[in-house]
Amino acid sequence: MDRIKVALNGFGTIGKRVADAVRLQKDMELIGITGHSYNFRMEAANDRGIPIYTFNGENDFKANGITPAGKVDQLFQEADIIVDATPKKVGKDNKEKYYVPMKKKAIFQGGEKAATAEVSFVAQCNFKEAVNKNYVRVVSCNTTGLCRALKAVDDLYGLELVHATMVRRGADPGDIDHGPINAIVPVLELPSHHGPDVQTVLHNVNIFTTAMSVSTTLMHCHSIHAECKKTPDVAELVKRFKETTRIRMVRTAEQVNSTAEIIELARDMGRIRGDMPELCLWEEAVGVVGKNLFYLQAVHQESIVVPENIDAIRAAMGFTDAQKSIDTTNKSIGIR
Ligand code: NAD
Repeated sequence: MDRIKVALNGFGTIGKRVADAVRLQKDMELIGITGHSYNFRMEAANDRGIPIYTFNGENDFKANGITPAGKVDQLFQEADIIVDATPKKVGKDNKEKYYVPMKKKAIFQGGEKAATAEVSFVAQCNFKEAVNKNYVRVVSCNTTGLCRALKAVDDLYGLELVHATMVRRGADPGDIDHGPINAIVPVLELPSHHGPDVQTVLHNVNIFTTAMSVSTTLMHCHSIHAECKKTPDVAELVKRFKETTRIRMVRTAEQVNSTAEIIELARDMGRIRGDMPELCLWEEAVGVVGKNLFYLQAVHQESIVVPENIDAIRAAMGFTDAQKSIDTTNKSIGIR
């Protein structure tokens, strides 16, 4: 079978990681990336032989010693599917300007509104909904993390009502423009957008979310309170979480007591860029009072959506076997 020709539009935090993951898939080929402006990421891509296609800035690239492979229209025309990882709201414009007129399938990211795509996607929750769709949105890092664990809880005990508080990283490690650097900033909008976003994937889950940003760059942390239909059992649930794909149980017994140690663990595991695409849950922080379940989890915002993008490509291209896609993706990027 021909390999899926993938173009990557937006080579930043998410885009460069998805590009690397595409290059690891036997059934996919990264045919090129867009170069919006010349920068160190373009240097790194060029060094690694990734073709760069420009909008209008080819002179900027040439002046810096990079010969672009062509214009973005050419890249998009040659692609079977485009992964759009541009800043939020740019994806919607790209859809109208390029993907719809060119009749190209596209995968969008969580910064886009749900209405930009036909389906919002978390592979282990609703892969089948995305099969053969033209426009699929991989939901945000926080929503992906919430959905992975809540799906497991819902399958086991049924969810009556969920309240989750997101403690969000202020900026990505390479982002010098955002903060806070010395404050806790609550989201003064109730619910925060995460709850309604979860419902775009887990349609029947009753969830209310609150959020705040703090002075850290490594990961988000979530505190979850789920009122279940049946009384949860901690040991049974921990076992289920351990068996659930893309969830990693971390333990104070292994001295993983913080987000910093999770990232250090990922580095020690030899993960590319020190990434941890698994949702991490603290085993000791799973607790039950009556039908109320409590747990704490951490989300590596830079990488959790990377495997989801790979599975979304397969689903949109008509691959129907969710488990096989998830297993293939996991193996390729080192998720056990
Ligand atoms: P980013 O700013 O790191 O990268 C965006 C890239 O797009 C940059 O390389 C920029 O040069 C390029 N770009 C800017 N305008 C462009 C245009 N008009 N056309 C093509 N390229 C353009 O952004 P990011 O953090 O990777 O976020 C991308 C998307 O992923 C957003 O929807 C975001 O909400 C979502 N997302 C981000 C994170 C995260 O933590 N960073 C996590 C999950 C999802």
